[in-house]
Amino acid sequence: MKKKINKMLVLISALAILFTVILTTFVYYDMFRKQIVEDLRGYAYIARECETQEQFEKLGQQMRLSDVRVTVVDKNGDVIYDNEANQAVMENHGERPEIVQAFAAEEGDDVRRSETLAKNTFYFALRLNDEAVIRMARDAGSVYSILHKAMPSLIGTILLLGAMSVVMAHFLTKRLIAPIGRLASNLDESDDEADYEELTPFVTTIRQQHQDIMKSARMRQEFTANVSHELKTPLTSIMGYAELIESGMAEDADVTRFAGGIRNSAARLLTLINETIRLSEMDDGNANAEVENLNLYEMAKYCVEMLEMSAAKHEVQISLLGEACHVSGDRQQMEELLYNLCDNAIRYNNAGGSVTVEVKPVEGAPVLTVRDTGIGISKEHQERIFERFYRVDKSRSKSTGGTGLGLAIVKHIITGFGARLELNSEVGKGTEIKVFFPKES
Ligand code: ADP
Repeated sequence: MKKKINKMLVLISALAILFTVILTTFVYYDMFRKQIVEDLRGYAYIARECETQEQFEKLGQQMRLSDVRVTVVDKNGDVIYDNEANQAVMENHGERPEIVQAFAAEEGDDVRRSETLAKNTFYFALRLNDEAVIRMARDAGSVYSILHKAMPSLIGTILLLGAMSVVMAHFLTKRLIAPIGRLASNLDESDDEADYEELTPFVTTIRQQHQDIMKSARMRQEFTANVSHELKTPLTSIMGYAELIESGMAEDADVTRFAGGIRNSAARLLTLINETIRLSEMDDGNANAEVENLNLYEMAKYCVEMLEMSAAKHEVQISLLGEACHVSGDRQQMEELLYNLCDNAIRYNNAGGSVTVEVKPVEGAPVLTVRDTGIGISKEHQERIFERFYRVDKSRSKSTGGTGLGLAIVKHIITGFGARLELNSEVGKGTEIKVFFPKES
């Protein structure tokens, strides 16, 4: 950017200098040309006033000293007087534009280029009487010769101003860019205002993005630490059981029990790994999501049937209410959503309690409700249970195979569906989770 600004500034000043010089030269040359013709005109009028031949010839000689050529041409175009050349050998002047003009309208003028480009000859002709015309002529440098003469000083000025603009451009761009550099190194200080008003929206966006990146990096770091920590417990228990069996201290009955323990811990490891993979997949965007039209009621029915065994084990009654409802989205994600909500409602329930799953449209939009008569969640925990690895009662969660990731996945899925979640819960009475899907268009 600095280089670009430098280049632009130098280019602009060089062009400005060049234009000014050329323009001034032409304006000046026009004035110069007018002045010469005006002078020649004055001389011609003075010459016309001469009363005698001697007077006229004397004037002619004086004019010669000032490099003005005086010629008198008669009606036939023959030169009858010339203060420089021999009139007898001069060619016919009858066709010259200034002479023709003067015979016709008293005055006439013309500028002709001489053989060399460097000189122009200026002519002014005045009618003396019906028989003759007097013509004054003078050579003067052409605009090219003026430009040519001015060239050394012109180049000097261009070089000088060019050098000045390089220096100025350097300092100017340095000053222009300094606030941007300062902002780049101060992205964290949100009260540090941008020096340029035009940069404010840009800086706000960059700051926002920077904060988001930092936050996401922190979250990933925490997540990795949490995952490693969570993996440790089942692995340690597997190692413990294995060591006991290895040492030969365990009786046959114990070995069977320990094998069960190992299987449980391994299952836990598998769930943890699977859920972690799901979450990171979802963090990277829903690349695998396939949108299709889902029959929510049928899917809820299947989920309830699948969980009946588990419900019976927890001595919980599970039932489904409602009617056919359609939602578009990814089938696997909807299955996960239903499973996680229903599974929690069973696991955090009391013996003899119940779980009710309801699917029905409300004002044309599908709503899924999972209600339980379980232990409930107190207000302070309600906000946090959607965080990764957050568990109200760690031991209860673990003993029922929980990982603390279920609701984090639910939250992700709901966002993907464009849905909204509502949580109502009271400790000791139960929990109700409602998912409002967007209206099908
Ligand atoms: P977990 O694998 O521990 O069940 P979740 O993310 O599914 O993890 O839930 C987070 C926490 O929220 C649970 O540990 C539990 O304390 C609480 N919770 C979730 N659902 C319910 C519910 N229906 N009733 C009471 N508490 C619940």
